[in-house]
Amino acid sequence: MGMWRRLNARRNWLVILKGLGYKGAHFGGINHRFDILAQILDRMDEIEDRWRDFVPEFDFPQKNGFYRYSRDTETGLCGTELSPSMSTISSGEKMLFGVYREVHRTFFSYDALFSSLYRKLCAKLEKRPFGYLVIKTLEDISKKILFSCRECGDCSLQHLAFFCPESQCPKHTRNGPCGGSSESRCEVNPDRPCVWFRAYRRWAAIGRPDKLYQGFIPPRNWELDGTSSWINFHLCKDHQGSPSLTAPTDHGRPPPG
Ligand code: SF4
Repeated sequence: MGMWRRLNARRNWLVILKGLGYKGAHFGGINHRFDILAQILDRMDEIEDRWRDFVPEFDFPQKNGFYRYSRDTETGLCGTELSPSMSTISSGEKMLFGVYREVHRTFFSYDALFSSLYRKLCAKLEKRPFGYLVIKTLEDISKKILFSCRECGDCSLQHLAFFCPESQCPKHTRNGPCGGSSESRCEVNPDRPCVWFRAYRRWAAIGRPDKLYQGFIPPRNWELDGTSSWINFHLCKDHQGSPSLTAPTDHGRPPPG
């Protein structure tokens, strides 16, 4: 009986994920026979149109939790509205945020005035080990000082209001807060504010809190680990170069080809 209750809960969860747009899920565990899985898949087919009916079974928000999604009237998924007083940052931080955005727009936008020049330069540098080393060293030093960069090579700074998901989030989440934070504190390090909460405050301070709710940021591309994210961006090798990217972006669309 207990096993079937657990399997039913998993089936309902899988139906919700499918309804939300997930393309696949890992069904794991011991002692699962294929005929049981087949029954679950058959039943999923029967109930998938009613996936919203099962959302309340999984809606158990923690008090004062912070989520990427506000309460969605369509799906019923939970969230917490932040009070205006929680959305303020110092004028110095606001200015710094503005500088980061401007620099990013100038050097890391496919629409920037000199973007085709940057692209040609990066294509040349990639083929010259010494040139590559120079640019990589310059990138590492500056980004380590400013963002505690971990050299992942697939930079997501701009999606997180210029906080590094690799060094500032213990779970390295790139697509929104994990749901474990409480009172705006990190679940893993409660002595620190959740980095997504800090990002929310930056976007809210310029009147764009919606930036945190838009689109989808793909997982990190591990093949780029340790390489230059600057060069990867301009040569469309990182996630931003994908034409199917649906993340909120200020860097324009990648050039064709
Ligand atoms: S996201 Fe990656 S490249 Fe960007 S600052 Fe963090 S570790 Fe460095």
